[in-house]
Amino acid sequence: MDEAQARVLALGSPVEAEDCVLREALGRVTAGPVHSRIAVPPFANSAMDGFALRAADTTAPGPGVSLRTIGYIPAGAQSLPAVGAGEAVRIMTGAPLPPGADAVVPFEETDSDGDTVHVRAGITVGSCVRPAGLDVNPGDQILPEGTRLGAAQLAACASVGLATLSVRRRPAVAILTTGDELVDPGAALGPGQIYNSNAYGLEAAVQESGGTPLRLSPARDSPEALRDAIKGLPDADLILTSGGVSVGDFDYVKAVFASAGEVGFWRVRMRPGKPLLLASLARPDGQRVPVLGLPGNPTSTMVTFEVFGRPLIRRLLGQQPEVPKPLTARCVDRLDNRGGRETFFRVVLDDEEGLLSARLSGGQDSSMLVPLARADGLARVSAEVETVAPGETVLVYPFSRWSR
Ligand code: AMP
Ligand code: MG
Repeated sequence: MDEAQARVLALGSPVEAEDCVLREALGRVTAGPVHSRIAVPPFANSAMDGFALRAADTTAPGPGVSLRTIGYIPAGAQSLPAVGAGEAVRIMTGAPLPPGADAVVPFEETDSDGDTVHVRAGITVGSCVRPAGLDVNPGDQILPEGTRLGAAQLAACASVGLATLSVRRRPAVAILTTGDELVDPGAALGPGQIYNSNAYGLEAAVQESGGTPLRLSPARDSPEALRDAIKGLPDADLILTSGGVSVGDFDYVKAVFASAGEVGFWRVRMRPGKPLLLASLARPDGQRVPVLGLPGNPTSTMVTFEVFGRPLIRRLLGQQPEVPKPLTARCVDRLDNRGGRETFFRVVLDDEEGLLSARLSGGQDSSMLVPLARADGLARVSAEVETVAPGETVLVYPFSRWSR
């Protein structure tokens, strides 16, 4: 499985960069490091509502000191009174520290009486002051290349005044499901028919990964239909197919890609997902477009997308492609792994007295989608391990980590 993953990733390289306005950049991925041109905050300012003063005025021994108040400074103030010896000025959170002052005492630590403020205890220089550049200095890198932009990252970019960002173009991912039995949700099922869940699962997974899904009409199970579907493939950065890639009498996906392009490998020693195909098609510009022929069983489709498709899209986006580091969990159920294949079990993760635990989210047949829909992640058991007994530890990949 590791070798298969490496060979899949070798077929991908980052797509071009484009500019994106900040408000539309949620979920995009930075195409280079993001730097700030300014300091944040740009000027020293007050961290509290209180009085700006000279710290040295407050350090005499005794029961505090009285200072003369000479005005007030709201946030956004453009002209500032200078604070002299024995003076203080009312200052609001975020307002610039006035000349002469070097500390702020919060209202809560003072008693006010007309033009006089009584400061109860000594204040140290810099107290309750946010110096210029506390968060960012000019030239600082605020985000590395390959960062997925979420709420916090976008707020950080806005705080340094960036209106547009250089991000990777969204990779275009063609999705071709195959099968004579497939019907779209909303239609009535005829005899022998099932709903095309893979189209919906894959489209959403591609969108979640930062790609643009290009949905094609499902192909029927004949070599001609598949050949036609491939001929009509739009310009894509990646092609995903589902089904028709096993050893059934009507499984033509491998043969059709073998004649239209090149086959990289077929079948991986893993479960679910054994009949996986890696192929590639030549583009007019000479580049090769990777093709992942995913197995048709719905859970196999989704798990092989996680193990091969999502890392490949990450590579197309210039992100570190590796599946995130697994966590260690205590296994609640017995995991049976006979058959000598690396296995991904669908599990619910929980906190048990401070320790992460994993229990099966339901039946593990790869045709079953509901246990996948209930799962928080996958538990990975290597080919050599035949059973994991309750109480033993197991490596888990939480889905939440996968979508970063
Ligand atoms: P196949 O590899 O084409 O033989 O498909 C394996 C199993 O997955 C069969 O039970 C198919 O009916 C089912 N299957 C294939 N494609 C889809 C799909 N797009 N949505 C839901 N189930 C599918
Ligand atoms: Mg089929």
